[in-house]
Amino acid sequence: MLTGPQNSAAAIARALAAVRERIAEAAAAAGRDPDSVTLLAVSKGQPVDAIQAAYEAGQRAFAENYVQEAEAKIEALTGLDITWHFIGQVQANKTRLIAEHFHWVHTVDRERVAIRLADQRPHYAPPLAVCLQVMLDPEPGKAGVEPASLPELLAAVSRLPRLALRGLMCIPRARGTPADENASFSRLARIRDVLRTPALPLDTLSMGMSADFEPAIAAGATIVRIGTAIFGERR
Ligand SMILES: *Cc1c(COP(=O)(O)O)cnc(C)c1O
Repeated sequence: MLTGPQNSAAAIARALAAVRERIAEAAAAAGRDPDSVTLLAVSKGQPVDAIQAAYEAGQRAFAENYVQEAEAKIEALTGLDITWHFIGQVQANKTRLIAEHFHWVHTVDRERVAIRLADQRPHYAPPLAVCLQVMLDPEPGKAGVEPASLPELLAAVSRLPRLALRGLMCIPRARGTPADENASFSRLARIRDVLRTPALPLDTLSMGMSADFEPAIAAGATIVRIGTAIFGERR
């Protein structure tokens, strides 16, 4: 539950500072500039005041998984300079709300959804930043494009207007061993290296969560998505 001192504004600020420190250390250990890793605070299942506490502690990028829940929070926080990232499974009938409310979508895995997002991105807004979710460890019911189909999807999405194709995202197998996770992170980085071109630099690798962001940074993550290590347990 979210009641209790562990989720106070002060506790969130402390947890955020600790996570930032660990990111900086992991980046330094990998010989990388700490500023090359963006911390995304995953606020699904967290109340608006928890987001506000993180914002007051300097956090600006937040991620949500569920469109309805996100819409209410984004509206409640209108006026703050927050960058909103959508990291949940994209249902085709929810694309309009995503295109209208978010700056980034990490979980595009089929052309149909990309076409809808492109059509529905409002013209007053900048292009919607997109990552393609890649399924590295096939599991039943799991989202993501298979690596074999990725080049085709990449080509199709890169041609769409109103979208800015930025890179790749993965979620390693739940309950995988640390060695499995390292292999998945390195594999996503290699796939990106093979597919990037000067015209399509694919500068973003969205990988790593509370339990595994350090190995993800070692493998080249540029965005880590962290929820519980900042906010505590979700409701
Ligand atoms: C919930 C979620 C996260 C954050 O998970 P934590 O373990 O709480 O850090 C990251 N990425 C995705 C896609 C998620 O759904």
